[in-house]
Amino acid sequence: MDIIDKLYENKTLSDTELISLLTACDDTYLFEKAVTRRKEYYGDKVFIRGLIEISNYCKNNCLYCGIRKDNTFLSRYRLSCDDIMMCADQGYGLGFRTFVLQGGEDLHYSDDDICHIVYSIKNKFPDCAITLSIGEKPKESYKAYKDAGADRYLLRHETADSDHYSKLHPISMKLDIRKQCLWDLKELGYQVGSGFMVGSPYQTTENIVKDLRFLEELQPDMIGIGPFLPHCDTPFCNMEKGSLQLTLKLISILRLMFPYALIPSTTALATLSPTGRKDGILAGANVVMPNLSPNDVRKLYSLYNNKAYSGIEAAEAKDKLCKEIESIGYRVVTDIGNVNKKSAI
Ligand code: SAM
Repeated sequence: MDIIDKLYENKTLSDTELISLLTACDDTYLFEKAVTRRKEYYGDKVFIRGLIEISNYCKNNCLYCGIRKDNTFLSRYRLSCDDIMMCADQGYGLGFRTFVLQGGEDLHYSDDDICHIVYSIKNKFPDCAITLSIGEKPKESYKAYKDAGADRYLLRHETADSDHYSKLHPISMKLDIRKQCLWDLKELGYQVGSGFMVGSPYQTTENIVKDLRFLEELQPDMIGIGPFLPHCDTPFCNMEKGSLQLTLKLISILRLMFPYALIPSTTALATLSPTGRKDGILAGANVVMPNLSPNDVRKLYSLYNNKAYSGIEAAEAKDKLCKEIESIGYRVVTDIGNVNKKSAI
């Protein structure tokens, strides 16, 4: 049996088989099987999330990230609860039913502040889901946000290999802590998202297999992957960017391993290639996350060079995005877009 058929049937492969799939040249059949599988679970639906980038202050110094603490060239901003409510108001009017609040690890916001923001949005828009993506926190903080109404949490593990992790992060950051946060979030009943960068510096094919194994263990509801893209004011300024082909291949592999998963076609993919957003959907992704942040701060949430934040990346251009998705045979839906873990539709 061909390994792609085997992956389609069994939803897993041996390490050797995964390596041979990851290094194969022609992905046509892989994309085809991934599309079949996502149609079984989600039909032609593409879910849309409004991304609000709440702060570019960060206490961390991840070597790859443009908003790392030591980047002194960056102007910093943070949104107030009122600013965030304005974004949510605008988003609700445009048809968004999930708001993703993402930011650096900004110690200015207390747990009470985050709870107040979450509660205010939930109180005004009870038919919406709130996703937080604000980094590593103690379990009690995650619990407080959940009690305030947060539904989902995104925290990429970045790499499941601790040696590789130590090459991407300062010594103070540990893979075990990141993984523990993900287990805590699961235990608290969040819909959890994890993931990794494709082509991050020093990444090997074996590292990627470990990433897939960790995801098998975690069984996340959402899986976010995107190519690593260098930022000029980081230590990885001159590193090679991640490959489009490998990112798309991995989206398809993830779809076959985790048929139910909510997998975004990411901004990093759209930044890497003008057709990246569409290609991601055609490889098996089923979520898009246009930017709802206030216009004047979008360029300051600068994770990597030339990050896309205008055109169809902008939430206000939703109609254009919908048309683009329709042009490839899919349909953007106004839907809370919860995971379908139970069965094929
Ligand atoms: N602070 C939160 C956290 O740590 O999860 C959320 C913000 S963090 C900037 C969001 C994601 O951006 C990271 O998980 C990382 O994978 C991605 N990212 C950061 N720098 C990147 C780069 N240079 N290229 C591609 N993705 C990057």
